[in-house]
Formats: sequence, C-alpha cells, structure tokens
Amino acid sequence: MTGNAAPREPVAYDLIIVGGGMVGAALAAALAPTPMRIAVVEARSQADQPSSDGRRVSALTAGSLRILQGLGVQDRVVAADSEPIQGMVVWDGDRAGTITFSAEEAGLESLGAMAPNGAIAAALQAATVDSANVDWYCPAAWREMSREADRVVLTVEAGGERHQLRASLVVGADGRDSALRRHAGIPTVGWSYGQSAVVAEIHPQRPHRGRAFQRFLRGGPVALLPLSRGRSSLVWSVPQARAEGLLDLDEEAFAGRLQRAFGPELGKLAVGGPRAAFPLRLEHARRYMEDRMVLVGDAAHAVHPLAGLGLNLGLRDSAQLAQTLAEAHIAGEDPGSRAVLARYQRARRPDNWLVSAYTDGFHRLFANDSRMLSDLRSLGLGLVDRSGPLKRLLMRQGMGVLGAANRLARGKPLGTP
Ligand SMILES: Cc1cc2nc3c(=O)[nH]c(=O)nc-3n(C[C@H](O)[C@H](O)[C@H](O)COP(=O)(O)OP(=O)(O)OC[C@H]3O[C@@H](n4cnc5c(N)ncnc54)[C@H](O)[C@@H]3O)c2cc1C
Repeated sequence: MTGNAAPREPVAYDLIIVGGGMVGAALAAALAPTPMRIAVVEARSQADQPSSDGRRVSALTAGSLRILQGLGVQDRVVAADSEPIQGMVVWDGDRAGTITFSAEEAGLESLGAMAPNGAIAAALQAATVDSANVDWYCPAAWREMSREADRVVLTVEAGGERHQLRASLVVGADGRDSALRRHAGIPTVGWSYGQSAVVAEIHPQRPHRGRAFQRFLRGGPVALLPLSRGRSSLVWSVPQARAEGLLDLDEEAFAGRLQRAFGPELGKLAVGGPRAAFPLRLEHARRYMEDRMVLVGDAAHAVHPLAGLGLNLGLRDSAQLAQTLAEAHIAGEDPGSRAVLARYQRARRPDNWLVSAYTDGFHRLFANDSRMLSDLRSLGLGLVDRSGPLKRLLMRQGMGVLGAANRLARGKPLGTP
C-alpha cells in the first residue's frame, strides 16, 4: 500500500477519512499540501479495492480533469491508457430521436477522458506518499467510533494491532453502503433500479473516433465508451435476472446479444475479456453532515451510471470539502464544527440533487412503455439536439465546468495564489 507506515501510539489528526477509494484519496491528495494532519482508513488492500478491478473504467468530465490537474495528477492519469472523449451519440432504441454532443460545440478541447479506475486511484494515492501529513491505515477496519463535543475518536485495527485515532472530524468516503453513514443514523432516499450494469471490454470492428455511444432500450441503456487502441468499454444496464444469464453466456453468444441490442453503428462487436455485473441503486443521504462527521462521494449519493457522473460528483465533493476545510483551518475555525460542515453541504447539495434527479428521470422516461411518452421523448431529443443554447448549457452543466466555485475545480492546487 502507498503512504507512510502507520504509527502505533494514539495519534491526533485534524481529520480521519474512512474509505481510501478514488474520492477519499482525492480528498487526502487535495489536503496533503496544507498543514492539516490526515489519516486514511481503507478496509481493503490495494489489490482488492473496487477501483483495482481491471474491468472498471470511468468517464471523467472536463471539470474532473481540471480537479485532477489541481491535484497534480492529471498527466499521470492521462498517460495511463486514457482516451479523450470527443463526442457523444445518444439515441432512443425504439424511436427515431437522436442527440449528438461534441467537444467543439461545447467550446472545449475534449468532453473529458475515459481512464481505468485503477490508474486514477493509484495516481491519487501516490500523490499522498511523499506528504508527511498523510498516514494510511490499510488494510484496516474501524471497530468503534465515539463522537464527542470537541472531537471524534476512532478505534482502528490494522496489521493485528489496535490504534486509537483522534481528530476534529471524520469523513465518510466509504461508498454506497457507507457503514459510517449508518452508524451516524443518517437516513437516505433511494430505491433499487431492479437493474444490473454488465461491464466488459469490447473490440468494435469500426473506429469509435473518440465518440461515446449510448442507446436507450426499455430494459435499460447500452453504452459503448471509447478506450485507447480502438477498444470500447461496455456498460449495459439490464433487468437483474437477465444480467446473470448474460454473464453465463459464452463470448460469442454474448457478443451476438450485444450486437442486437446496440445495433450496427460500430460494425461487428467482439468481446475482449471477462465480464462483471453491478446491481444499480439510487441512494442519496438526507443530510451530508452530523456532529463531527461529513459524507463525500457515493457515501452521500449513488446515482445510475447512465450519465457516467457518480465519480465526477464525488471528485467535486472532495474539491469543495478540501477548500472549505483549508479555509476554516487558516481562519482558526474548528474544521469539525457544524458551521463549517454546513458550508460544504450548502455548496454541494444542489449539484448532487440535480444530477440524481435527472439521471433518475432519464431512467424512468426511457424505461416506460407508453406510446405517448415514447413519442414525446423522441420529440424532446430532436428539439434539444436542434436547440444550440440549451444543448450547450446541458453539456457544460454535465461536464462540471459551469460556475466552478473552488480552486481545485479551476485546476489550481489549494494554498497557491
Ligand atoms: C458499472 C458502473 C459504471 C460507472 N461508470 C462511471 C463513469 O463512467 N463515470 C463516473 O463518474 N462514475 C461512474 N460510476 C460511478 C463510480 O464508480 C462511483 O461513483 C465511484 O466509484 C464512487 O467512489 P467512492 O470513492 O465514493 O466509493 P467507492 O469506489 O465505493 O470506494 C469506497 C472505498 O471505501 C472503502 N471502504 C468501504 N467500507 C469501508 C470501511 N468500513 N472501512 C474502511 N474502508 C471502507 C472501500 O474498500 C473502497 O475503497 C460507475 C458505476 C458503475 C456501477
């Protein structure tokens, strides 16, 4: 595991981050150059973390690439087998409506990039290695937590030893099923989509030319996202029972089903490796903060992957929380106080709710059988496609480049003028 050896004696930190996945590591990397002392508690060894699953890749928006630039890791992520996204083609499987987006229309060099989750996580974790301010406890499990008036105390088991960590604040970056969120009794709004996303690497016959394709079908959307060397990444949302059947098929039979679902746009599709399925759920915490604790990333909000925005929202959370905490630290405020945490919550809730609502809305709109809705959605896609200003606004909102409010979102590290 990257990072400094964990100390054996009880240690005082400014904050403890539970969950060292991409979002938790981004927060640690953002705060590493500040004087704040940080502990990261990660349950799984590096090889076992969800981000190390070689089949997992993420679409990073232009806004997220700016955050990674601010964290000093963009070049490393881009060099690690990433592929720029130049355009998107979205169409309704049953009807004629199509909408296309291009980087040129949005006034951007690219709409973002596809990058392996393992490379993103490794770059972020490496950014904390040389910092004397960041200690990793990994693999480690937290056993007890007490939140007191002026501090939080966490008992952590790592390498067969128990450590007591104290801090002003604990951050839950422990994913969609956040144990920290449950422990704090923070309720969520959410439901199962009754779908699983089947992922695989696909080798299309025709070049994708940097374009992401998504076809909406009643059972769920099927997306082929551009990877380097002409490959594509499949994210195919299907009813849960069907996902198991798709995983059981041999490669040829699977490719045949996929071809029928996706269509002829990229020519013949071949499967390039193992497949996996992930059950999909909406989960949004009713509040992101409690006394001396705060939530970021999937622990605060997990969304349907149809817009490829879950990680992007999490990176925006980390960028905002880092700036809020760093400013509080400089101003001599208690970083775990409700006043400070409320500033972060106010800044991030509207964006996270908006994206949760529109991804959920898209899912419902396209999953519906009604003939009238089907006519309306193809009309809507066509109208948005022809309406330049609305389309540009949608693109820039999705890319996370509208009104970038904090330094990292503008590509600048914390603590520089
Ligand atoms: C099929 C699919 C495709 C997707 N594609 C995209 C995409 O293209 N773009 C995009 O932006 N998003 C995408 N997402 C969403 C994205 O993967 C998630 O939003 C992102 O991984 C959330 O990161 P996180 O760090 O908050 O949580 P996680 O990735 O879940 O990481 C949580 C970390 O916390 C650790 N942990 C958990 N419990 C504990 C504990 N008790 N103690 C210590 N550590 C703990 C875990 O080991 C893990 O390392 C996709 C999701 C799916 C399912």
